[in-house]
Amino acid sequence: FEQAFRDHRSQLKLVLFCTTVSGGGLLAYGEAVAASEPEQKKKKVVVLGTGWAGTTFLRNLNNPRYEVHVVSPRNYFAFTPLLPSVTCGTVEARSIVEPVRNIFRKKKVNAYFNEAECVKIDAANKKIYCRSNINNNLNVKDEFVVDYDYLVIAVGANVNTFNTPGVVENCHFLKEVEDAQRIRRTVIDCFERASLPSISEEERKRILHFAIVGGGPTGVEFAASLHDFVNEDLVKLYPKAKDLVKITLLEAGDHILSMFDKRITAFAEDKFRRDGIDVKTGSMVVKVSDKEISTKEMKNGGEITSIPYGMAVWSTGIGTRPFIRDFMQQIGQINRRAVATDEWLRVEGTDNVYALGDCATINQRKVMEDIAAIFKKADADNSGTLTVKELQEVLHDICERYPQVELYLKSKQMNNVADLLKESKGDVKKESIELHIEELKTALSNVDSQMKFLPATAQVASQQGTYLAKCFDRMEECEINPEGPLRFRGEGRHRFKPFRYKHLGQFAPLGGEQAAAQLPGDWVSIGHSTQWLWYSIYASKQVSWRTRALVVTDWTRRFLFGRDSSQI
Ligand code: FAD
Repeated sequence: FEQAFRDHRSQLKLVLFCTTVSGGGLLAYGEAVAASEPEQKKKKVVVLGTGWAGTTFLRNLNNPRYEVHVVSPRNYFAFTPLLPSVTCGTVEARSIVEPVRNIFRKKKVNAYFNEAECVKIDAANKKIYCRSNINNNLNVKDEFVVDYDYLVIAVGANVNTFNTPGVVENCHFLKEVEDAQRIRRTVIDCFERASLPSISEEERKRILHFAIVGGGPTGVEFAASLHDFVNEDLVKLYPKAKDLVKITLLEAGDHILSMFDKRITAFAEDKFRRDGIDVKTGSMVVKVSDKEISTKEMKNGGEITSIPYGMAVWSTGIGTRPFIRDFMQQIGQINRRAVATDEWLRVEGTDNVYALGDCATINQRKVMEDIAAIFKKADADNSGTLTVKELQEVLHDICERYPQVELYLKSKQMNNVADLLKESKGDVKKESIELHIEELKTALSNVDSQMKFLPATAQVASQQGTYLAKCFDRMEECEINPEGPLRFRGEGRHRFKPFRYKHLGQFAPLGGEQAAAQLPGDWVSIGHSTQWLWYSIYASKQVSWRTRALVVTDWTRRFLFGRDSSQI
């Protein structure tokens, strides 16, 4: 108070005079001091992207000491898990999007949005270069530069075509809301074209052949949604098309939904066979022309066959955005699919740059070094072998530090190792068996260098967004009282606990009001009740009450009146 008194003596005189006149007392003095104090400069956080990772970060950031600038080519958040439902009109596109400015409106933090895409990151000078795609009637693209104190990269990924010729020109993708709307229009187009009198029977068959490339969760869900749309709604309106429609699902691997439990894979393949969806496994697409898809049949010694099609949807995985590739080169991260971060989501080789969601990956080399260190510690006598008990302890340690390793082992169906992991908390029965350390080390380090430990899902992206926002909120607090583990290198502790992914389960809607779910603890649930679980979880996960109400209304409308087949 003394200091304030000295600093603001002249103001005090004035205030005392005013308060004597107004009778406002000391309160008025306090306000005058606060108003004259220079405001502490806010740290500028630039967020790239308004998808799952970026939006969750924004929704959870509460510390008003930051000024947030968001740059993204779309001014809304889209609930991607419902995109397959948009392709068939089960849900309307507008029902699954929320304007980002609506999200800001409710925040204490100063936030600004620019509808533009980032084209270059200059990490050395802490600047990003942006270009707006808004049509300004002059055919000139507005360009601008934004500087930052912290940069959060959450730009997701783009579609991976594996450089297959003809894919970009002839296939639909299912990544954005516009893609889903385009697919919906094309499906109806195919039915209308096939109804024209000038079309031959053979051509009709071709037009009504829908090919889906990729037997992952998105491809499978789209195939199931399309099958329901055709059989529950379209065949009533286009009765002649009934016997001509064909849906084919092409998958290069041996099974569809290979990342799920074997029981789910088997159920899905069996259900699709019963529904008449042609599942072609071991079929790798090598070329797509405007009317034919060429595939290499692995089961027939690599024979090339051609399939005529009317509409093709490409859903085979994700790739790196070009400006992210440039950025990775700039910071010395070469030959990677995604930006490498440490466990605190900090981009390696940069200052104050964070990456999360589909565009990022936690550095595996570092993980491998840690795993090797854990093994070395366990094999104290240097014998090169471990008993099952020792191995279980080692794996337990690894999985506690890196839960994603357990997920990886399961996804590769290395069940023997995964079983050992599961048993590690209970009784050990196979004490006498010895396993070679090298065997497991090789298995773990054989992880394809392009493969992420964490799956590219909304679940990972949103958990990372929440984690990072909490770190930002407590940045100063944790600087003084660090809460993280001891540093491997250097003194003291890390400021924060590292990011830990919590797997909450995975769904695969299979059509006909049936779904499969793989829930934590390897609990598998398949059938109609699982579909209702899916409805309730996806309704609850909506980002606002507005979209929740719209989505539930759309589902009800569909139950009562069926899907809309107009081309709007
Ligand atoms: P995104 O959500 O893709 O967001 C990226 C953001 O970056 C976008 O706003 C984009 O406009 C913006 N951007 C792009 N380029 C730039 C640039 N140059 N500058 C600035 N901004 C840019 N996951 C699940 O967990 N469960 C599901 O059921 C599920 N279903 C899915 C169904 C479909 C059809 C799809 C496509 C995906 C599904 N996923 C699901 C995966 C999930 O959507 C992604 O893992 C998730 O969106 C990743 O979040 P993200 O924030 O990293 O990227």
